[in-house]
Amino acid sequence: MSKEKKRREALIYHAKPTPGKIKIVPTKPYATQRDLALAYSPGVAEPCLEIHKDVEQVYKYTAKGNIVAVISNGTAVLGLGDIGPEASKPVMEGKSLLFKIFADIDGIDIELDTKDVDKFVETVKIMAPTFGGINLEDIKAPEAFEIERRLKEELNIPVMHDDQHGTAIISAAALLNALDLAEKKIEDVRIVISGAGAAAISCSRLYRSLGASRENMVMLDSKGVIRSDRPELSAEKKEFATDRKIDTLEEAVRDSDVFIGLSIADILTPAMLKTMNKNAIVFAMANPNPEIDYNLAMKTRKDIIMATGRSDHPNQVNNVLGFPFIFRGALDVRATKINEEMKMAAVKALADLAKQPVPEQVNIAYGETRLTFGREYIIPKPFDPRLIAEVPPAVARAAMESGVARAPIADWGRYREELLQ
Ligand code: NAP
Ligand code: MG
Repeated sequence: MSKEKKRREALIYHAKPTPGKIKIVPTKPYATQRDLALAYSPGVAEPCLEIHKDVEQVYKYTAKGNIVAVISNGTAVLGLGDIGPEASKPVMEGKSLLFKIFADIDGIDIELDTKDVDKFVETVKIMAPTFGGINLEDIKAPEAFEIERRLKEELNIPVMHDDQHGTAIISAAALLNALDLAEKKIEDVRIVISGAGAAAISCSRLYRSLGASRENMVMLDSKGVIRSDRPELSAEKKEFATDRKIDTLEEAVRDSDVFIGLSIADILTPAMLKTMNKNAIVFAMANPNPEIDYNLAMKTRKDIIMATGRSDHPNQVNNVLGFPFIFRGALDVRATKINEEMKMAAVKALADLAKQPVPEQVNIAYGETRLTFGREYIIPKPFDPRLIAEVPPAVARAAMESGVARAPIADWGRYREELLQ
């Protein structure tokens, strides 16, 4: 299909038959006068009074517990940059659609017209009573770090900035499995991270939680290697600054085991790739074009284990593998936050699932003959029906074990059945 044809197709998809991608539908009967007297005044006063007496009852009598706000200010939208709140709306609606179809969560998109951190935080806090959880989206770094940190501290519902943690969780699952295939230990490998933005910082933090050692990590931004002697580093960059006296990507990747790309297209050359250790792991995730083209990389070295952000190559690091299921698990135990334990549980559940035999319907959905755990299949595919049965329970259990679940699950068999409905 030509570029112009694709453009038109996307525009028509969004415009017809109804503008946009989501709408609200009632869940209760509304055909008779009696129904309406229950749905609204006078019947509605009864749940109001119950909730007024005990605010937790809001979860029993309203949809709060299944609504996640997808909130952006449009400052870092996809790879399009700061395009403003209105222009970000299609993305936020798209996220709502994904929440719905993958985890039956009602995502409400909210676009805020402010770049001010205090105003943003204050606004979300004021709106929080409406929602069961908050998915922050496409907010520019470094503001995104502070916005998320403060909202997590100040609210008692799950808050997650998906561009940071979604990517971190999915890529971490892929990394664990790639290391397995390469027969290497995360504690020992030398990791190069190209990029120091929202995604790169969060990924690097999670890899550290999984055992990667700070001494073995080198991070680069647009100015080159982030050295500890470089002036004016942000707190996040300082966290990963190296003492090694090197400056370039070329120097950084030499004799490394893992390349994590969350920066820009085409900066990793075949010559650099050749200097990496055996069974090199290359996650080139810049979108839409990776740090090295997939086919070029595969042509350069046969032994690499590669992932990208693209759906037209194996091993797509796709956030949709994470956020619907993580929020599902968090909402179902009424977690007060999404903590490290819950993220780690999602990582392990995703990594484990990729090692299980793949159901035939997944092969069919992706036009594959036989997906099997290996170099070309290190993470599950989004249309895998087992995700909803595996990831939310793992997250919910971790929430309970780490003491942040307000409504613990007692009957896991029944919970699993409910998830599969
Ligand atoms: P971001 O916050 O804008 O960060 C971009 C980072 O790349 C910045 O730290 C920037 O350096 C750095 N950079 C720019 N040119 C560079 C170069 N030549 N060498 C090394 N680093 C360079 O963006 P983000 O949200 O973290 O996303 C980064 C990229 O990852 C995007 O392409 C995005 O599409 C992709 N991504 C993919 C996935 C996925 O596959 N699932 C998920 C998230 C993000 P400065 O700090 O000096 O400006
Ligand atoms: Mg995003």
